[in-house]
Amino acid sequence: MIEERFDAIVVGAGMAGNAAALTMAKRGMKVLQLERGEYPGSKNVQGAILYADMMEELVPGFREEAPLERHLIEQRFWMMDDRSHVGMHYRSEDFNEERPNRYTIIRAQFDKWLSSKVREAGAIVLCETTVTELAQDDNKRIIGVRTDRRDGQIHADVVVLAEGVNGLLGTRAGLRARPTPDNVALAVKEMHFLPRETIEARFNLQGDEGVVIEAAGTISRGMTGMGFIYANKECISLGIGCLVADFQRTGQTPYGLLEQFKRHPSVAPLIAGSEVKEYAAHLIPEGGYKSIPQLYGEGWVVVGDAAQLNNAIHREGSNLALTSGRIAAEAIGLLKSRGASMSATNLSIYKKMLDESFVIKDLKKYKDMPPLMHTHSQNFFLTYPQLISKAMQNFVRVDGTPKVEKERASLKSFVKARSWSGLVGDAWRFARAWR
Ligand SMILES: Cc1cc2nc3c(=O)[nH]c(=O)nc-3n(C[C@H](O)[C@H](O)[C@H](O)COP(=O)(O)OP(=O)(O)OC[C@H]3O[C@@H](n4cnc5c(N)ncnc54)[C@H](O)[C@@H]3O)c2cc1C
Repeated sequence: MIEERFDAIVVGAGMAGNAAALTMAKRGMKVLQLERGEYPGSKNVQGAILYADMMEELVPGFREEAPLERHLIEQRFWMMDDRSHVGMHYRSEDFNEERPNRYTIIRAQFDKWLSSKVREAGAIVLCETTVTELAQDDNKRIIGVRTDRRDGQIHADVVVLAEGVNGLLGTRAGLRARPTPDNVALAVKEMHFLPRETIEARFNLQGDEGVVIEAAGTISRGMTGMGFIYANKECISLGIGCLVADFQRTGQTPYGLLEQFKRHPSVAPLIAGSEVKEYAAHLIPEGGYKSIPQLYGEGWVVVGDAAQLNNAIHREGSNLALTSGRIAAEAIGLLKSRGASMSATNLSIYKKMLDESFVIKDLKKYKDMPPLMHTHSQNFFLTYPQLISKAMQNFVRVDGTPKVEKERASLKSFVKARSWSGLVGDAWRFARAWR
C-alpha cells in the first residue's frame, strides 16, 4: 500500500487526465496519476485532430517539441452515395500561419510526450496500474482509489475521474449511470502507410500541410454515423463510426462498414497501395448536452469523455477533454489555495467554471441535434444524400434536356421521397436544432 496521502489522484492518462494532472502539478500540488496502459497513449484511439489553442493553454510553446504530424490547411466535407460524393471544401493559405490552429497527431506518440510534461511538473505517473474501485468512507465520500497492485489502496483529498468513455469506475460507484447505446458511437479506425510524397500528391499538399475529410451519407447505411480520412506525414488515418444502438438495430458490423467505405470510388484511390499497420476500435460519447452526468460530488470530479463531453457535430473531443481537465484542476487548485475542503458544495465551482467555457456553451447550442440525427437517421444519412447526389448529377450533366425540366425533375424527386410537409418539417427541425 502507498502510505502517502495525495492532494489529488487522477485516473487515466488520456487528454483529460494529462491536462488535469499537469495543471495541478504545476501549482505545486501532490498528484498521483494512474494509467492502466503500458504507457500513456497506448490504449487511446483518436482520428486525430489536435486543437492548438487548448494545448497552448497547457503547454505554452508546445509546437517546438510535441510530436505533431501535419497542420491543417484544408477541411473537406463529403456527402456520399454509393458511387459519388458532393463536397464542400475549405482551404486557406491563412492556415499556413506561424502558429497553426489544428494539427493531425498520432495519439500513442502525443500522449507519451504530454505525459513527460506531467512528470516534469512533479506528478507521479504510474502506468500498468488499473484502478479497480473508488474507496469511499461511511458517508459515501470518495477518499481514494483501490488498484490492481497488491495492497493497492491509496488516499487523496480528491479523485479526478478521467477514465474515458466507458467510465466504469464512476458507474460502479453509483456516481452516474452507464452511457446508453443511443448515446455512444462505436468507431473503427485503420492507419494506412504510404510514402510521404504519395500522400502529398494525392491530397494536394506541400511540406507539412495537412487535410482532413469528414464524410457522411450512405456509407453508414442509414445509421447515425460518419467516416473520416486524415492525412498524417507518412500514413492516412481512416475510420467510420455509428451509434451502438443503430448497430444493434440493424445487425450491421463496424468492420463491414469500414470495408465498404474503403472500397468507395472516392476513397479507394486515396489509399491504393497502402500498407495497413494498425487497427483499433473505440467508443465515442455522442449524446451531447443532455447526456452529461453529474460532474462533481463529495471528493470527486469527472472530466473528458467520462463526463460525455464530446461535440459530435463538430467532431471535437480532445479539446473538450483538455479544457475540462484543466478547468477541473484549476477549480481544485483554487479550493486548495483557500484551504477549503473538497466537498460537493465546494467542488460545484468546477461546474460553474465549465458552464462559462466553450465546452458547455457549444454542447448546449447543439443539445437537440443528437436525438434529431438518431430519430431521423434514415432521412439524413440515406435519403437526402441520395437525392442530393442525383440532383447534383442532373445539374452538371449536359445532355440536351432544358434546364427548367432538370430543375423540375430534381424538385419532384425530393417531394416524391419526402412529401412537401416532410421536407418543410425536416428543414424546420434541423434549423431549430442548429440554432
Ligand atoms: C476513432 C476516433 C476518432 C476521434 N477523432 C477525434 C478527433 O479527430 N479530434 C478530437 O478532438 N477528438 C477525436 N476523438 C475523441 C477523442 O479521442 C476523445 O474525446 C478524447 O480522447 C477524450 O480524452 P479522455 O482523456 O477523456 O479519454 P481517453 O483519451 O479515452 O483516456 C482515458 C484514459 O484512461 C485510462 N483508464 C481507463 N480506465 C482506467 C482505470 N480503471 N484505471 C487506470 N486507467 C484507466 C485509459 O487507458 C486511457 O488512457 C476521436 C475518438 C475516436 C474513438
